[in-house]
Amino acid sequence: MQNLETDCCIAGGGPAGMMLGYLLARQGVDVIVLEKHQDFLRDFRGDTVHPSTMQVLHELGLLERFLARPHEKTEQIGLNINDRHYRIVDFRHLPVAARYVAFMPQWEFLDFLADEAKALPNFRLMMSTRADRLLGRDGVITGVRAETGGEEIRIRAGLTVACDGRGSTLRDAAALKLIDKGAPIDVLWFSLPRDETQAGDESLGHIGPGGFLVTINRGSYWQCAFVIEKGGEAALKEAGIDAMKQKITEIAPGFETAAGALESFDDIKRLDVQVSRLETWWRDGLLAIGDAAHAMSPVGGVGINLALQDAIAAAQILAPHLKSGRVPRRILEKVQTRREWPACITQSVQVFAHERVILPAIRRTGKPGVPLAVKLLNAVPLLRRLPARAIGLGPRPEHWKGSGA
Ligand SMILES: Cc1cc2nc3c(=O)[nH]c(=O)nc-3n(C[C@H](O)[C@H](O)[C@H](O)COP(=O)(O)OP(=O)(O)OC[C@H]3O[C@@H](n4cnc5c(N)ncnc54)[C@H](O)[C@@H]3O)c2cc1C
Repeated sequence: MQNLETDCCIAGGGPAGMMLGYLLARQGVDVIVLEKHQDFLRDFRGDTVHPSTMQVLHELGLLERFLARPHEKTEQIGLNINDRHYRIVDFRHLPVAARYVAFMPQWEFLDFLADEAKALPNFRLMMSTRADRLLGRDGVITGVRAETGGEEIRIRAGLTVACDGRGSTLRDAAALKLIDKGAPIDVLWFSLPRDETQAGDESLGHIGPGGFLVTINRGSYWQCAFVIEKGGEAALKEAGIDAMKQKITEIAPGFETAAGALESFDDIKRLDVQVSRLETWWRDGLLAIGDAAHAMSPVGGVGINLALQDAIAAAQILAPHLKSGRVPRRILEKVQTRREWPACITQSVQVFAHERVILPAIRRTGKPGVPLAVKLLNAVPLLRRLPARAIGLGPRPEHWKGSGA
């Protein structure tokens, strides 16, 4: 058994954990980040890096190096309804350094943060290390027990931060109360070969008879997200892969040839969508942020951004206290107060979109109508700046005011 000691132990090397670890280390705090996987290459967890996040990267002096990594720029968002194109979001007028969404595979982004963080002497990333239990004394959490390659590690920490995502082990171990908001949809996830002569190059949402499909341009292939009603996978499988291909083609006619590449449902993975949040994000010695505190739906592609914004706020609120010992309760509460309402507002919009936009769209068997809002956004370019602000900056975008390397 190994015994380690640190100022802050972060469980989970996703967007929230890696950003928090980097920013704390940059301010001179000793940090250990535990990530249960051996690398960042795994299931889809979103590709979108938003203008507000890139603004903070700019403030940190990291934007140029970040943009050197492979990514696609999306300055405007379009929607194809019944194969007709509508422009609905325009990021090009936002008052920030990068006026677009960067579609960067999440493993690239996490690798980037890891590389920046590893250059700092007081940052330590332990891959293939799973946090499985909290350590505590007299009602105060004093660290975590973790496991790597069959070996037990005990890490004593001034503060433990649960960044271990929507199925958070540490949140459950701390018996923090979770409020489930319910999500009536799931996502089927698959890739299709990309031939630009057939389907253009823009990442797009497609709404057609009985379905909603998102196609993300990843260079040599399209990463596709097909939205289904929760529990709807069995019926699709029963109807067979040819019926699935036909559905794709009906919704997105330009993808007919590409859809032909699907051979069986083994090529398609179901991703479970959840929307939930913690009543209280902290206990003495423990804080939860990101999806561990508020699991986000993929709607709007904002979950990564919110997780990162939590980390940026938390790093600046916590650092002075971590350097001088234990973090008082009022400081943990301050992180929740600052970040709770942006998460609540965003989740409310997502729940509304599930019920009022997505479910009706995927339940309809005939051709969908075009919502008035979409017609207006398409007709009046100035209006497209409003959703650009909501998606690109979100409620309460954080800024880097801190010091460090
Ligand atoms: C289908 C789907 C599509 C989505 N698409 C998008 C999108 O396009 N854009 C967007 O912004 N958001 C999207 N989201 C939401 C987004 O994935 C999350 O909001 C975001 O990843 C949250 O970041 P996080 O760091 O809090 O948690 P996570 O990204 O879940 O990271 C948690 C990390 O902790 C690790 N971990 C878990 N348990 C332990 C443990 N016990 N010990 C050590 N490590 C552990 C995990 O391996 C993981 O690396 C999507 C969500 C879903 C379900």
